[in-house]
Parts: sequence; C-alpha cells; structure tokens
Amino acid sequence: MSAACIFCKIIKGDIPSFKIFESDKTFAFLDIGPLSKGHSLIIPKHHGAKLHDIPDDQLAEVLSVTKRIAVAQGLENYNILQNNGRIAHQVVDHVHFHLIPKPNETEGLG
Ligand code: 5GP
Ligand code: ZN
Repeated sequence: MSAACIFCKIIKGDIPSFKIFESDKTFAFLDIGPLSKGHSLIIPKHHGAKLHDIPDDQLAEVLSVTKRIAVAQGLENYNILQNNGRIAHQVVDHVHFHLIPKPNETEGLG
C-alpha cells in the first residue's frame, strides 16, 4: 500500500470507483477515461509500479480475473494492455491491466 498512490486509494475506498470485482488479492473497476464502453482496469492489491514488482500469485489471479470479466461481458473482440514506464505510456504507477472491448462498427464507440 502506498499512501500517495491513486489506485491504492481506490482499493481502500478513499477515491470512489465503479467496482466490478474484489477479492483479497485483486480489484477491478471501470476506467474513468474509457477507450470503449466497458473498458476496465484489473489490479493487484499489492502496490508495485511495474509488472516485475508484483508477486507471481497476485499476477496469476489478476490475469484469471481479467479472463473472467471478459467472459462475463461476453466479449468476442478485445485488447489487454499493460504499460510499464513513462516511455511505454504508463501514467499511474500501480500495475494495472486494461481490458478494452473492441465493439464492431455497428456498435460504435459508445
Ligand atoms: P496507464 O497509461 O497508466 O496505463 O493508464 C492509466 C489509466 O488509469 C487511464 O486509462 C486512466 O483513464 C485511468 N485512471 C486514472 N485515474 C483514474 C481514477 O481516478 N479512476 C479511474 N477509474 N481510472 C483512472
Ligand atoms: Zn498503489
């Protein structure tokens, strides 16, 4: 837990979020700036900035939860994105997996 970290604050409930899932190791919520409808973020509760900072058991559950959310959303087309470092476009320094649905053209972006 990092006192300055916005995602740690979201886990604690100090910053509100639209929660999708929570277990003892994992938290998932909707992205505040979605790239498509249903864009979610899946994070380990263990605070670490980059993938290599996170224990394997936490990473395994984060990926499993990501899969279960994709199944629950009935997604056929989606991207999973995980950025590490500023040059790689990481903005929030708490590991997070983006689950970004890819709607077909008739569904649009909304
Ligand atoms: P990054 O570029 O670090 O991989 O992505 C950070 C993501 O976190 C962005 O998609 C951004 O919209 C999202 N984000 C940043 N601050 C908040 C917040 O306070 N609440 C939520 N739900 N998402 C946030
Ligand atoms: Zn954190």
